[in-house]
Order: sequence, then C-alpha cells, then structure tokens
Amino acid sequence: MAENIIGLNKAQEMLLEKVEKIRETESISLWDAAGRVLAEDVFAGHDQPPFPRSPLDGYAVQSRDIEGASKESPVRLRVIDGVDAGHVSAKCVSRGTAIRIMTGAPIPEGADCVIGQEDTDYGEENVEIFEEVRAYENYCYAGEDYRAGARILSKDTVLGSVEAGILASLGREEVLVYRRPGVSVLTTGDELVLPGEALYPGKIYDSNLYTLVTRLTSLGMDVIQKGRSGDEPGEAAEWIREAVQVSDIIITTGGVSVGRKDIMHEVLKLLGCERIFWRIAVKPGMPTLCASYQGTLLICLSGNPFGAAVNLELLVRPVLCKLSGRKELGLKRITAVTENEFPKKSGVTRYVRAYYEDGRVRIPEGSNASGILSSMCGCNCLIEIPAGTLCVKKGETVWIVLL
Ligand code: AMP
Ligand code: MG
Repeated sequence: MAENIIGLNKAQEMLLEKVEKIRETESISLWDAAGRVLAEDVFAGHDQPPFPRSPLDGYAVQSRDIEGASKESPVRLRVIDGVDAGHVSAKCVSRGTAIRIMTGAPIPEGADCVIGQEDTDYGEENVEIFEEVRAYENYCYAGEDYRAGARILSKDTVLGSVEAGILASLGREEVLVYRRPGVSVLTTGDELVLPGEALYPGKIYDSNLYTLVTRLTSLGMDVIQKGRSGDEPGEAAEWIREAVQVSDIIITTGGVSVGRKDIMHEVLKLLGCERIFWRIAVKPGMPTLCASYQGTLLICLSGNPFGAAVNLELLVRPVLCKLSGRKELGLKRITAVTENEFPKKSGVTRYVRAYYEDGRVRIPEGSNASGILSSMCGCNCLIEIPAGTLCVKKGETVWIVLL
C-alpha cells in the first residue's frame, strides 16, 4: 500500500478538525421542529396541568363523606352540579354533596377525591356511592407533570415528537433552534444526463445526485444547491466558487482518480484549495479527495454510485453530526453474525452492503462492485471487512456500520 494512503479513522479525524458546530440560531414553527437541535433552555410558564383535575368520569366528593361506603351500605349524596372537561363549576362541594365530573375537568372547590361512576348508581339528583375512596385518590394535582418555573428542556436537546408535545403543552408556537448545515452537491462527468433528458449513446443517467441529495435531506440537512458539471475543470470550479458563499460543506462526485478526465485535482488548483488528503485505505471510494476551500469542507467522492453512497456515510456523516450537534447522526458500529459468506480477498478495509436483523447479517445476491447500486436496495448496513482478510465465512462475527 502506498504510504500516502490514510486509514478511515485518520481521514475522519482530519475532516472533523476542520469543522465546528454551527452556532447561529433561528426561530422556527413547532410544526417543523422534528430533528432540530434546541438552542435555548425551556422553562415552564405555568403548572401542567394548570389545575387539579379528574382522571376519570365520576363524582367529585369529600372523602370523609364516603368512609365505609359499600354495596351493602351505600352512602347517599346530593348532586349539586355537573362539570365537563374545559369548563369550571362555580359550586363548592360541601358535606353531603357531590358534583358530577368528567375526565379532565377541574376538581371543584371542597372536593378531595373522585369516585368512579362504576362504583355508584349513576344518580342525577342524588347519587348512591358503593365504595370508599381515600383523600386525594383519583385526584391529579396541579403541576404533577411539571411545575411553573421548572426547566423542562435543555439546550442542545434533539427535538422529536415528545419534545414537540411538551413545547405545545407549554403553549409554545415557535422554538429557537440551531441553523441546519447547508450542503451543496455537485456531480461531475461528461457522461451524465439528468432524468427527463434523452439518453444519447455513451450517456448514463446521473444517479449520484439523487442518492446523495435524498440521503442528505433524510438526515435533516438543508440542501442549498445541487448541480451537475461536465468534465471541464473551469466549469466545476465556477460552480464551487458560487456554492461556497452559501454552504457549510460541498460534496462532489466523480473525477477523483488518475484518469485523463479526473478533473478534481485541477479544480482544486484553480480554486487554490488546501488539500487535506487524497486516497483512503477503504474500498469502495479509495480515491476520495478532500480539501478546505475558504474554510468550507470540499469532499470529492468517487463517481461510482456505491462508492459515493458509502463514503457519504463513512466520511460525510460524522462531519454533519459535528456541524449539526445531532449526536444520533454519528456512525453506529455493532457486531453481527454472518448468514452467508463473502469469498473475496480484501487488500484494504472493505465495506460490503448487507441487511441486518436481530444480530444476524446477510449479504444480498448480486455484485458488491462499486459501480453497482441495484443490489444495495433494502440494505441497512455495511459489513466492515478488515484489510488482509481472505474470506468472510458464514457464521463469523463481524463488525457492521448501521446505515
Ligand atoms: P469517476 O469517479 O468520474 O471516474 O466515475 C466512476 C464511474 O462512476 C464511471 O463509470 C462513471 O460513469 C460513474 N459515475 C460518475 N458519476 C456518476 C453519477 N453522478 N451517477 C452515476 N454514475 C456515475
Ligand atoms: Mg468521471
């Protein structure tokens, strides 16, 4: 192996050194909060629930009135009012009286418990009670979820549906979050045409643009610009010059190897970029080229569809994790037992598309070659095969990276 080839860990480290978590914030609608990172501590402006409430349908009473009540010797109370959720009774429960109450309704003054209607005769003027209930039984306290003034959510929390619900329960319509990483994607290659265009001889449809942009969007990134360039260094350089003004990271595919039309080396020169590394000891995507351009990371992936998809995960995802502050975007490695074999020799660390479930991992039928995308369909992990491995056998324990 040539000496200037670095391993994946080193490559990841070198990229991470170049980025900082994004600190700019923006206020967004709670409807758009899922997957965003909270940029404020959130304190409760009121008790939740704001008032003591009934957890069931029944009668609000004084516990001392129904001591010893049973089917054999019921207690009879006068029903003086009824209260449904969303309303307040103006009456007060005093000795010998009850107020009909529904789930979620405020417990009226004077009452210290609620008797479920199943333990009564459902009376309307008067009610017979067949069970005793202790004070504050069937009684939801004001503030039992949270108290006014309490810190409910901390800065840097990743917002999900539960957090959206909590913020809504506080009455919040908007929330302050960190700005999302802005990513631009450029595919390069004279052979590429976009879906919708005619497939002339020698051309192929550009799949990388779709794989990458779709993946970035599903990871919650803000895809700012997406474009395609021919194998003309000036054209690609111009596109990057514009994209760098508005992007936190720029990803390109194609043109990073050693062929006549591997233009990205020339593009870096035209831009006057600082090269971070070229080539990683990883298959697919060995010729990956990374640079820093005006302080923005420029990650140039191999054009091979599998190589581009794999290195978006292995190299780009950790960077997005740091930029966004979303720890859950970090790569997850676990072990699994193989259900079939991979008989090929691996000179460098090799990643093989596979499907993981319940501790077991299966390599799909079809090729793992870097130009093949179709057999990746349905795969949810990559098996990591260490350099120097001759063959991975069925029943072996291997490391996998979850996608
Ligand atoms: P390159 O990295 O430019 O040498 O391209 C390697 C292989 O990937 C070639 O067969 C290209 O035609 C193919 N390729 C490059 N870019 C794309 C793309 N955006 N979509 C699909 N295939 C591509
Ligand atoms: Mg090319």
